[in-house]
Amino acid sequence: MQTVFSGIQPSGELHLGNYLGAVRNWVALQDLQEQDRTQCVFCIVDYHAITQGLEPGELSRRTVEMATDLLACGIDPARSILFVQSHVPEHTELAWVLSAVTPMGDLGRMTQFKDKSDKQPENINVGLFSYPVLQAADIILYRAQVVPVGQDQLQHLELAREIVRRFHARWGEIFPEPQARLTSTPKILGLDGNAKMSKSLGNTITLGEPDEVIRRKLATAATDPARVRRKDPGNPELCNVNTLHTFFSDVDRVQWVREGCTTAGIGCLECKGALADNLIAHLAPIRARKAELEARPALVEEALREGARRARELARATMLEVRARVGLWS
Ligand code: SF4
Repeated sequence: MQTVFSGIQPSGELHLGNYLGAVRNWVALQDLQEQDRTQCVFCIVDYHAITQGLEPGELSRRTVEMATDLLACGIDPARSILFVQSHVPEHTELAWVLSAVTPMGDLGRMTQFKDKSDKQPENINVGLFSYPVLQAADIILYRAQVVPVGQDQLQHLELAREIVRRFHARWGEIFPEPQARLTSTPKILGLDGNAKMSKSLGNTITLGEPDEVIRRKLATAATDPARVRRKDPGNPELCNVNTLHTFFSDVDRVQWVREGCTTAGIGCLECKGALADNLIAHLAPIRARKAELEARPALVEEALREGARRARELARATMLEVRARVGLWS
């Protein structure tokens, strides 16, 4: 039996970038669990989020919203372990042990540390610096062998593997070295067509947005700049609307976009309208489940409590062994 671990920041409501880049893959992994003899462990990483200076009320609200959206998207707490990181204090305990074998120089080379420091120069805290150590603890606490990641997380995973090797060199082997499973999803750009879809940039569509808002937002989405006039042909490869069609439209519709765009047979508004129809139809069952969960918040709470109970069972067993190896007197 192999374990797959993945974490997500409690950024509140999911947007299309999170959904396509991570959550859709989580649901697919969960569906393959039995056939692949895999156990999925999914974590809402609220300890990581406090490095960013969120207000306390905002952090808890976003955590619950994220959990609700994950359940609405199909994460099934009966089949996967879904929990909130801070409900399992062994994460920070193991991170402290790992910090004793992690060189400062390795952490200083992490590009995400540099990027995040640039984004919040007034709050470059130690947590931001040691973030990858906690991330390594998140993974190996469950002895996960597989971690689905995007290209931007590969450097952190390689460091996690190095930390495991250093732990083993000092205290003996107990963990598998986690392997990356690179997601094949291309980078989902925001509606501006420039940067990755991100709430802080205001270029997202969230899963719970009303139909008319989705239509309005898509109508303003950036397209291939070559299509200045209706009669100008375009290149769908340069257009984020086309990328979204490949996820939400069937093959015939994708072909219609390709032909219509390159020959100027269709206009961009027509193309975006077709995308809006398909996206709204795709999101309808997710939004219906989300409404049910919002009407019964105890279901979300119960799922997270049960997830934390199961996660903690695994985490405690790992920490018992870690403490013994390290020589902490008990
Ligand atoms: Fe993009 Fe569609 Fe316009 Fe082509 S027709 S540029 S794919 S919106």
